[in-house]
Amino acid sequence: MSTAADTPARADTGEALPSEVDIAVLGAGFSGLGAAIKLKQEGYGDFVVLERGDDVGGTWHWNDYPGCGCDVPSHLYSFSFAPNPDWTRTYSRQPEIRDYLHRCADRFGVRPYVRTETTVESASWDGDARRWDVHTSRGRLRARVLIAGMGPLSEPKTPDIAGLDTFEGHTMHSARWDHDYDMKGKRVASIGTGASAIQYVPSIQPDVERLHVFQRTPPWIMPHTDRPTTALERRLYRRFPAMQRLVRGAVYSGREINVLGFVKKPRLMAIVERIARAHMARQVPDHELREKVTPDYTIGCKRILPSNRWYPALSQPNVELIDGGVVEVRPSSVVGSDGVEREVDAIIFGTGFSVTDMPLGKLVTGRGGRTLDERWRGSPRAYLGTAIAGFPNLFMLLGPNTGLGHSSMIYMIESQLAHVMDALGVMRDRGAETVEVREEVAARFNQAVDRQLEGTVWNTGCASWYLDDTGRNATLWPDWTFRFRRRTARFETSEYDLTAEPAQREAVPA
Ligand code: NAP
Repeated sequence: MSTAADTPARADTGEALPSEVDIAVLGAGFSGLGAAIKLKQEGYGDFVVLERGDDVGGTWHWNDYPGCGCDVPSHLYSFSFAPNPDWTRTYSRQPEIRDYLHRCADRFGVRPYVRTETTVESASWDGDARRWDVHTSRGRLRARVLIAGMGPLSEPKTPDIAGLDTFEGHTMHSARWDHDYDMKGKRVASIGTGASAIQYVPSIQPDVERLHVFQRTPPWIMPHTDRPTTALERRLYRRFPAMQRLVRGAVYSGREINVLGFVKKPRLMAIVERIARAHMARQVPDHELREKVTPDYTIGCKRILPSNRWYPALSQPNVELIDGGVVEVRPSSVVGSDGVEREVDAIIFGTGFSVTDMPLGKLVTGRGGRTLDERWRGSPRAYLGTAIAGFPNLFMLLGPNTGLGHSSMIYMIESQLAHVMDALGVMRDRGAETVEVREEVAARFNQAVDRQLEGTVWNTGCASWYLDDTGRNATLWPDWTFRFRRRTARFETSEYDLTAEPAQREAVPA
């Protein structure tokens, strides 16, 4: 195992993959780049980051639709170890976050470890060699440790609508925006009214001739407090970094209060609902439209969306909001659940991502030849969202039950990274070749998570993509985020099997 941080940087993207590597990181978004930075800082020099895109950035590389931005405040939505005093808005837009990630990759010297345009096709645990056998679009490599940072929201989901394959116009998903397609003067159908759609619909509305917005479930919308930062603020943050840390802490604490309503006392959500209703009343004078956009489920059970632009966009004369899904697509039209056929030139899918049926489930095969999907049987589970029994030397970042509806996923990633680095350090110190969470530890953890989720607004309020095929909430962390940080802070050897011997054990029981 190489430990020299100053090992000559691995070759750039264009070069062949190494056939053997100590650690393979999957994905070069916030998770994968964060892992690479920490690995380098901890003295691991022999690692590679496999990224299917043609640059680093992950979510913020792929999602570049008009109006794309982050609904978590800039100061919190960044690495704690790399504050950016120069954010130009209190809530950053996609180009600025993408550029921030590019700068982090350069500043911490991890770009040379990244192999872009390298899609991981499978990763299988070879118990005899005690290595992961990774097949990619650019060849095969073996790795002692696998860190999966592919993100839960990376695989765009396009609904299976009757006749969609007969459509002769243009189609695109919000996460694969086609900037070569000129929307000017086009008749466009947009399907979905989630976090992505509420950002791109107001941005394309002025350009298109006609916009038919198909809404299956209205979102709860809150007033947005986004504003440009002032030159003085930026100067102060540059001059006094402690000040920015203070602001970050205040933003974190303010967001954390939401846990009270989501998890601890769902009745408190009534206060939030009153604010959302007042916002709607202010922005939607039209009675008929207001009725259509009024949700009939408890606020918070789906992501609460901040926007000052969504309702005004829906009120424009070239926009029609259709309450209900699309039932059929024809060669040049879409038919809504109201039975009306609308001629369109393009269809945009703002229909989200495969979350609980994530592609990683099929790609990764652990001990006994079982894939993650076979292990999970429709309901992903992991210890601290990170480790899975039967999958030695595999660490997931942003795995099951690490999602948040209110705060920054970067906080969760950094918490998990502390755990992973501690695990790797213990392995190094003890000369252990494999590490695997104990079955009973993971089971106890997941039972506790399930119990905590029982009374939450997410489990009681409505059906959403937070719930998997079995109805279990496999997505969200049901507690204070600082509790997650505390739990992940240390790698407890009593919770894991560490072994230097060839793994000769039987397959993990189902
Ligand atoms: P989403 O929240 O999953 O929303 C998908 C939308 O498509 C929903 O309105 C859904 O309706 C609708 N839909 C799905 N299948 C449909 C069908 N067959 N027919 C009609 N409508 C259908 O997806 P997203 O907006 O891409 O956002 C996904 C996640 O990405 C967010 O929750 C958030 O975590 C993240 N995100 C974050 C930001 C940010 O600012 N931080 C921005 C964008 C995205 P139903 O509600 O009825 O299912």
